[in-house]
Amino acid sequence: MRSFPNSPLKIPFNKPYLTGKEFVNIQDAAENLGKLSGNGFYSRQCQEFFQNRYGFHRCFLTTSCTDALEMAALLLEIQEGDEVIVPSFTFVSTANAFALRGAKLVFVDSQEDFPNLDVNTIEPLITSKTKAIVLVHYAGVSCEIGQLKKLADKYKIFLVEDAAQAIESFEGGRALGSFGQLATFSFHETKNIHCGEGGMLVVNDPNLEKRAEIIWEKGTDRTAFFRGESDKYGWKDLGSSFLLSELNAAFLWGQLENLDAIQERRKQIWEDYQGWFSGLKKEPSVLQKTYLEILEQALQGLGEIEFQTQPGNYHLFYLLFENANLRQQYIGRLRQNGILAVFHYQSLHKSEFIQKHQPEQFVRTFPNSDRFSDFLLRLPLFYELPDLT
Ligand SMILES: *Cc1c(COP(=O)(O)O)cnc(C)c1O
Repeated sequence: MRSFPNSPLKIPFNKPYLTGKEFVNIQDAAENLGKLSGNGFYSRQCQEFFQNRYGFHRCFLTTSCTDALEMAALLLEIQEGDEVIVPSFTFVSTANAFALRGAKLVFVDSQEDFPNLDVNTIEPLITSKTKAIVLVHYAGVSCEIGQLKKLADKYKIFLVEDAAQAIESFEGGRALGSFGQLATFSFHETKNIHCGEGGMLVVNDPNLEKRAEIIWEKGTDRTAFFRGESDKYGWKDLGSSFLLSELNAAFLWGQLENLDAIQERRKQIWEDYQGWFSGLKKEPSVLQKTYLEILEQALQGLGEIEFQTQPGNYHLFYLLFENANLRQQYIGRLRQNGILAVFHYQSLHKSEFIQKHQPEQFVRTFPNSDRFSDFLLRLPLFYELPDLT
């Protein structure tokens, strides 16, 4: 393989983007609004934005997507003995939120050619104890949501969309996050729009709305009290402190005001990657050609490479190697050139937690999930990528 001169590029995997409006809004919240805890002006503004733009029934900003998933598990009254179907190839929180309530996890493999779960393998796993299917829209690509919805409705089980990565993603014109009774989003700094740490629970089933308000507010009916519906508030149900601070919501609003521009930039970067690796577009529109050349030359001698072909919401762009060793070599070569590329989830069914607590899941095999765990590599993808030289 050809060795390149030490490149001047210093490219991290991610750099959280700032639009410039975040601090203006935070200052406004701090100086003018007189309320910095959750459920204030900026929180409501963000929630209404999502409700109007995506047709969600009701949104609750939370401190993280993890917390939104924990709210979901509380809302669905998941308890010991219940079974919850989840993908093996996902972030820990997708499964952990339900394990926390005592659920038995039933894992599903990924599709052969994409990390999303394989819908066709789910039906035989449904039992009388199955309470919910939790799916992930990996890279903002719809997890065959129409088919899943039909299946869940047929067996009268809940559908929860872990849409952590799927802001501004659509299926047949309808927003992801609007199909399940519940959906969760993340505004972690690694996602398309962010506020450092943050998340959102979407409640699409009106029957779950009232309790969601209570769980969100530490188990109290404080939200209804502030609407003037009662003269005092008290402890009604289980709950926790799931609200996002107004400071974070003000920050998030600065991002939302620039959502279209952020998405447009990510789209250009994604299309440059895709065009370059497919050989269809050798003149990038925003990425530097020398950067793409380094990425390509470093692949020499590392076998057949597959690459992501479904854009989703331009959340990430991945390469897929023939084995873990080749992936590791590539990571090393990029690092020598000052570029940080990282892999993604490790199959949850093989985790220490599952080995210890749910050994019957540990012995099942999920070849596709393992392949994405061991062979997939994500390239840097963030707003300012082209400017880093
Ligand atoms: C990022 C992510 C999460 C966790 O989000 P946090 O806001 O960090 O809690 C959960 N699920 C998926 C699929 C994610 O990508």
